[in-house]
Amino acid sequence: MRFLLLLLPLSLFANLNIAVSYPYIGALTKSIGGENVETVVLANGNWDPHFVVPKPSLISKVRNADGLIMNGGQLEIGWLPPLIKKAGNPKTNVNAKTFLNLSNHISMIDKPQSVSRSGGDLHPDGNPHFNLDPNNILILANAIKEYLSTIDSKNSQVYEKNYVVFSDMWKKKIELWNEKMLNKKGVKVVQFHNILAYFNKAYKIENIATIEPLPGIPPSSKHTVDIIELIKKEQPCCILHDVYHSTKTAEFISEKTGIKIVLIPHDIGALESVEDLTSLFDYLTSAIK
Ligand SMILES: [Zn+2]
Repeated sequence: MRFLLLLLPLSLFANLNIAVSYPYIGALTKSIGGENVETVVLANGNWDPHFVVPKPSLISKVRNADGLIMNGGQLEIGWLPPLIKKAGNPKTNVNAKTFLNLSNHISMIDKPQSVSRSGGDLHPDGNPHFNLDPNNILILANAIKEYLSTIDSKNSQVYEKNYVVFSDMWKKKIELWNEKMLNKKGVKVVQFHNILAYFNKAYKIENIATIEPLPGIPPSSKHTVDIIELIKKEQPCCILHDVYHSTKTAEFISEKTGIKIVLIPHDIGALESVEDLTSLFDYLTSAIK
């Protein structure tokens, strides 16, 4: 009998099966949910988070879920709404109390003055990459704790306890990361896409340019020439480049200016060594040498 129990999937014992859009949400939900919650992550950490292919396997994951947690801020706009529609699961509808939009708990930055497709409309509500500020992780953990306590009130004390353990650990980590980043204040960087907007704001790193002219708009030759001139003048330390866009233009810029290219993880699993939330921020706070 004991042997048989060992063979059963964990989800049979968990109270809740929560689908989440990205790995970092899965890790946070596991930290707060503990053994009461099983998470199903929809997007891989090395995929472009803006463009996920809504495959049938993802539809069944949403269909079988007891709830859904998304990043929000339009990051999933191109792929999650069709999945939710096809899944036809009342528990994962945006208006269900079992649905959580994390962006509702964050004040988003870089909201464009005007939005048009030609002008780049990938981030019409502002920059949605708020998960890369470690201070925001605490806010999101609290939102997930409140969410789980609401939909599974009989275990609310467990979620509260797990939250306290997580936040105590995380606050100590933040102190270490703050210390590590102290002498990086004022450092200038270039990115392909502004995934580090919140990270840079938290640590006073100055993003002087992005290789894409606007969020979601591919590099143009004129813009690339402008960036080369800017790099020669401003001497930024490096190009912090996401893992899912081609580094071709960055390499061209590097050839012309000698600037270093550093690959930056945007989530758990984006790079092999980034296997949990802590290693994600360990990596980010070590990226600028
Ligand atoms: Zn983006």
